[in-house]
Amino acid sequence: MPTYRYSDFLVHRYVILPLKICPEKVISLSLSIYNCIKSTCLLDLVLDLGFLMLSQRIAIDLGTANILVWVAGEGIVANEPTVVAVSEEDNRVIAVGNEAKRMLGRTPGNLLALRPMRDGVVADYQVTEAMLRYFISKVAPRISLFKPEVMICVPAGCTQVERRAVLDATLSAGARVAYLIDEPLAASIGAKIPIAAPSGHMIVDIGGGTTEAAVICLGGVVVHKSARVAGNKLDGAISDFMKRKYNLIIGDQTAESIKIKVGSATRLVQEEAMEVSGRDQVLGLPRTIVLSSHEVTDSIRPVLSQMLGAVKGVLEDTPPELASDIIERGITMSGGTSLLRNFDRFMTEETGVPAHLAEDPLLCVVRGTGIALENLDIYKRSVTKR
Ligand code: ADP
Ligand code: MG
Repeated sequence: MPTYRYSDFLVHRYVILPLKICPEKVISLSLSIYNCIKSTCLLDLVLDLGFLMLSQRIAIDLGTANILVWVAGEGIVANEPTVVAVSEEDNRVIAVGNEAKRMLGRTPGNLLALRPMRDGVVADYQVTEAMLRYFISKVAPRISLFKPEVMICVPAGCTQVERRAVLDATLSAGARVAYLIDEPLAASIGAKIPIAAPSGHMIVDIGGGTTEAAVICLGGVVVHKSARVAGNKLDGAISDFMKRKYNLIIGDQTAESIKIKVGSATRLVQEEAMEVSGRDQVLGLPRTIVLSSHEVTDSIRPVLSQMLGAVKGVLEDTPPELASDIIERGITMSGGTSLLRNFDRFMTEETGVPAHLAEDPLLCVVRGTGIALENLDIYKRSVTKR
């Protein structure tokens, strides 16, 4: 007696039987399956080849407080604090960005959470390079013939040595070509200022570490001043005040949240208050006090005056022709610290020139860097290439 296998049954049921009953249906179905497989493979092949051939273009805003990454064709793909956690024994990077920021001030003995950028420039070369490598490899395709082209912005007041440090770190982090653009230019492009026009525009970018004030005309920086004081110094002023007045020691993150919640550049019409907890300097025990917005405004006033110094310095050095443009168009403010309440009003009152916030102040620089990278032919005079 012949023995039947299960496979014979399947062949009979799904091939022979349908062929007997409806041969044209079977043929058309097989053809469409074949076409489908063929087109999917072809598509994959084309995509793979495309990835292999195309070198990706990445723009990075390497700020003291935040690092933002933009990829051509995709937009902003990362926005994280500029913090890296490394192991103390072998300098290995353990965490980057948000994860590392959560470790700040809370690390066990063998871990260090660091901010590799200080006052807008590289403070720790190796950690900066490791951080750039992390972000570049995170966004760049894994199979590619070419390494990506990367554009990074630097403060206009940066020295040649500081510029070289950023270029070197970018190249050794995996970039094929590295470009640098001055931050005020990038911020202006991101704030939709027509920088190539023959009229003067003033931009003030206030981030975590630096205040950059510049007048831009015909695609270049005409006058600029940079002060190494910004958001971090405001946090420091609040911490110092808490220590002086209340004998209370607070952490950096608490000081920052006080600044954001009840801070204001000018005294609020309706005074606000918040509870702040810290460690008593004398007793060493935790204590909570109620802090008013007026106290915060008064404590940060000296730092605001230092920032204002840079802005006034630029206004003083601006050629008269451009000065009249600036009075007409006003000052555009970008960077996270420009979000401090009433900062635009304070700037207007103190300089006599109308100041206004750019759209999305925290994103202007990375957007502008990305636009410059996508339109290199237009902005090539404004960038340095390596
Ligand atoms: P950087 O370019 O130096 O990385 P950013 O432009 O990202 O800096 O701005 C970060 C700074 O902005 C931090 O000091 C942060 O405390 C401050 N900041 C963010 N939001 C606010 C806000 N709403 N009010 C005041 N300061 C703010
Ligand atoms: Mg910045």
